[in-house]
Amino acid sequence: MSLSEISDKIARACVAAGRPEGAAKLIAVSKVQPNARVQAVLEEGHRCFGENKVQEAAGKWPDFKEQFTGVDLHLIGPLQSNKTRAAMELFDAIHSVDRPKLATSIARIAQELGRCPDLFVQINTGEEAQKAGVLPRDADDFIKECQGLDLPVQGLMCIPPVEEEPSLHFALLAKIAKRNGLAGLSMGMSSDFERAVALGATHVRVGSAIFGERVAG
Ligand SMILES: *Cc1c(COP(=O)(O)O)cnc(C)c1O
Repeated sequence: MSLSEISDKIARACVAAGRPEGAAKLIAVSKVQPNARVQAVLEEGHRCFGENKVQEAAGKWPDFKEQFTGVDLHLIGPLQSNKTRAAMELFDAIHSVDRPKLATSIARIAQELGRCPDLFVQINTGEEAQKAGVLPRDADDFIKECQGLDLPVQGLMCIPPVEEEPSLHFALLAKIAKRNGLAGLSMGMSSDFERAVALGATHVRVGSAIFGERVAG
């Protein structure tokens, strides 16, 4: 699908859900894509991108940021503590805040840098052992802990289990956000972004539907 087809689908899903047309932002997930494809999407005028690895992003985005103004870069993959500073210097938003140690280190580095990316707390809605994120039952305490550190928590993020109906997970994420007074919902990927928008997504993370399948590896 083209970028404009996806944007149209998002806008229509917003309106169908009784939300303003621009209520959900499209994060084009450019991980593993050849630079020429990313460049083509930048040339179409899109500026909001997602990457899941700090090192990979650090290899390509400084150059793109020199060529194109207004790039809005989101880290959507897990963040190792030793890469926190690099991530905070490069990214405008981090969607994978999921443990006290990371929150503390973000708070400390934010003090030093005098700025902090927008933050999303990742919730492991499917309670999957191999997946990052805070368990739903621990979410309220962890969100409060982050807020106690003065972190700019904008919302929550989830990656539903592959085998399950994603809408149940989107609804759970929305419920946890609502009771914590958080407006942001980072949810929905290529296969389910319209369902995510219907349930209140403010950020959808779409990769393969825009760029084509990622080359394995
Ligand atoms: C890769 C990735 C996406 C995009 O997945 P697609 O199915 O290609 O749209 C979204 N979110 C996260 C966290 C990812 O790692």
